Amino acid sequence: EAPAVTYNRVMLKISGEALMGDQGYGLNPPTVQRIAQEVKSVHDLGVEICMVIGGGNIFRGLAGSAQGMERTTADYMGMLATVMNALAMQSALEQLGVFTRVISAIPMDQVCEPYIRRRAVRHLEKKRVCIFAAGTGNPYFTTDTAATLRANEMACQAVFKGTKVDGVYDKDPKKHADAKRYDSVGYDEVLEKNLGVMDATAIALARDNKLPIIVFSLDEPGGFRGILAGKGTYTKVQG
Ligand code: UDP
Repeated sequence: EAPAVTYNRVMLKISGEALMGDQGYGLNPPTVQRIAQEVKSVHDLGVEICMVIGGGNIFRGLAGSAQGMERTTADYMGMLATVMNALAMQSALEQLGVFTRVISAIPMDQVCEPYIRRRAVRHLEKKRVCIFAAGTGNPYFTTDTAATLRANEMACQAVFKGTKVDGVYDKDPKKHADAKRYDSVGYDEVLEKNLGVMDATAIALARDNKLPIIVFSLDEPGGFRGILAGKGTYTKVQG
């Protein structure tokens, strides 16, 4: 069956933890390389790709503040962690021959580009993968919100949220054998039932701009490309 939507430009959001493999912390280069390969296989289809990678494998602001750090300082540390992850992904993608730009919400010119919207759009048109780093640049936000924000700014057709499970379930499928996966679910239902797709700020921003969120498994080899070709299982969060 042909896909209902032909995707030309998408946002891929992954958590920092997706890069740590079986380790409890940090970056696992073979895992980063595997995900880069998944991204390349979609890039090969001619799809323009934006990426946002979290920082939870290195540092989370909330965890720091729970241990007594000042919250905003801890959040800036979390944002810096996302820059490290973005650089790791850039390195892995470029080793596969995919041109990329790391674009930071917080300028750090020696390391990567500052975020300038029109420049980022141009990179996408030139088929460079744009990896948006440092979240939104503001404390008290998350990288899920950054992904939704940049997806709107870049006019992406959807946010693809790569996770460990193949969609959104009514309860945790790793704990309950009778958990049911939604094929499609509304933004408001996700918010009301607290289905844990993304934080509420990100969901509301997607809802208000009619931006679909597609939750799929990044552990499934070829999964990302499959969904773009209309195959595989996933949940579409939409209005
Ligand atoms: N963060 C922030 N503002 C943003 C995005 C991220 O302050 O716009 C900080 C926040 O402290 C967060 C950390 O960066 O805990 C890492 O991001 P996130 O928790 O979203 O990463 P993920 O859970 O996706 O790995």
